[in-house]
Amino acid sequence: MTKPLVFTGNRFDRAAQYRADATWMAEKQQDPTSRYVPIHNLKALIDLTDRPAIDWRGYADVKEFIEAGATLIFLGIADFACHFAIDVSSLENPRAVPNSDWGKFIDVRNISAQLRPGEAGALAQARSMIAWHDNHQFCAKCGAKTDLHDAGYSRICSSESCKAQHFPRTDPVAIMMVVRDDKCLMGRGHNFPPGQFSCLAGFIEPGETIEQGVKREVLEETGVKVENVTYHSSQPWPYPSSLMIGCFCEAVTEDITIDPIELAEAHWFSKDEVRELLARAGTPETPRASPPLAIAHQLALAWLAEDKN
Ligand SMILES: [Zn+2]
Repeated sequence: MTKPLVFTGNRFDRAAQYRADATWMAEKQQDPTSRYVPIHNLKALIDLTDRPAIDWRGYADVKEFIEAGATLIFLGIADFACHFAIDVSSLENPRAVPNSDWGKFIDVRNISAQLRPGEAGALAQARSMIAWHDNHQFCAKCGAKTDLHDAGYSRICSSESCKAQHFPRTDPVAIMMVVRDDKCLMGRGHNFPPGQFSCLAGFIEPGETIEQGVKREVLEETGVKVENVTYHSSQPWPYPSSLMIGCFCEAVTEDITIDPIELAEAHWFSKDEVRELLARAGTPETPRASPPLAIAHQLALAWLAEDKN
């Protein structure tokens, strides 16, 4: 790897063996060493007084939310302390109450590259988990209310005749550097800023291998056939719960016919052109590559370095 990917540094011992132990969990929640990251409308509380860092709070600061039944997730153990995420979205004005010394709620995407890797990884876990609970308040099987269980790692239907158990999901996305000789294929989706190019990508579908997903997505989006798919690296992407699976593959055809619904444009780029795209990444100048935060950026760097492992 050329550089550690943002969101990949989660260092918690997730200690799953304690999740169903309500007594242990209740004790740890009130333990003076335990730490909580408050999440408000999926934004995380960040301390900006020095280098940006998660503004971890103690039990006293979040007690009222826990007692009110807010979504509470056990993230895991690090530095001999239990870490939790707590949803404080019930706060109407998070700047005013309950503690004036709280930091600022910031979109995880906008701050994670500035955090220490372990903290960005913690936010990937916290954001995905709370977003999942937000969207699974009702049973997908019968429609009844569901309740949080296992310290946040399942929800169980409240209907006695159903009792269906639901688990947090992770959605695999293949993202691929398509290479042909000394050129690579990059595209721009309609939702991308004009002039910003990235690797092709798409969700792996049920019943499909990663290799099949890569071949299908490239063919669907650009009409290019690829072979020799190899895995490179992966990145949690908490919007809301994707796992980006970075791959390389070799094109065996060259003509591009884009799917106009999926892509606005796609082109072959030389190594010199990709170097220029990368140099402009994160600036307003175009054409440019995705910002360094994105795995697509790191795949492009790896291709230039011919580091495919
Ligand atoms: Zn149900």
